[in-house]
Amino acid sequence: MFYFDEINNKKILKSDLIENALFTTRETCIKSKDENLIPFTLQNREELKNYLKIQKLIYPNQTHSANIETADFYKDFYKETDALILTDKRLGIFLNFADCTPIVLFDKTQNIGAIAHAGWRGTVAKIGPKTALKMREDYGCKIEDISALIGPCISKCCFEVGFEVYEKLCESVNTPPAYPKSEKVFADLKEINRIQLEQVGIKNIDICPYCTVCDNDKFFSYRKENGTHNRHSAVLWLN
Ligand SMILES: [Zn+2]
Repeated sequence: MFYFDEINNKKILKSDLIENALFTTRETCIKSKDENLIPFTLQNREELKNYLKIQKLIYPNQTHSANIETADFYKDFYKETDALILTDKRLGIFLNFADCTPIVLFDKTQNIGAIAHAGWRGTVAKIGPKTALKMREDYGCKIEDISALIGPCISKCCFEVGFEVYEKLCESVNTPPAYPKSEKVFADLKEINRIQLEQVGIKNIDICPYCTVCDNDKFFSYRKENGTHNRHSAVLWLN
């Protein structure tokens, strides 16, 4: 279940399935390219670091790729990386979103987790399940021990796509596309990512009820806000 909590009276979103993860909101924004907002985001980042009691917060340079890296305490730049695995307790990681689907994975037995950035391209590339499989391959995580959160993103109500994109998304979950009467269709990124995660064996999945367009008072939407430079973030730390 998702619920709102606060850091210094400013709203964050959490889930009781993975308590060592959170999503920032407009009030706790830690990533923006808008120069006027940068001091605000740096202040929030500092408050977040203190709240989490970690030494360092790391984020990658996201480019809608399917590249998965592991966060390294001594490395600050992650080129073209859209999923980051976390194994170091001294670190927190965050990835940034404004419509794309945030996927948080956590294996509480091994205390290892990850965040993936699944826009439609990342979803077609199956970055969510690929990240879980890499956690197994590189760190011996058992898939049945991994829980997943699907965070705030543009939901089916608002995500109109061309038929080509819709077809690719359907292919990614081996479902034949339902042929619509019109050329425009609505895609459900949350549902497609959920099916993908279940198809590799992840059973515990909590899906956020919020849509970045409908709930634009709390989260950022690239579509609704004409290519905003602001992002909300998925944040993960370890126990
Ligand atoms: Zn909506």
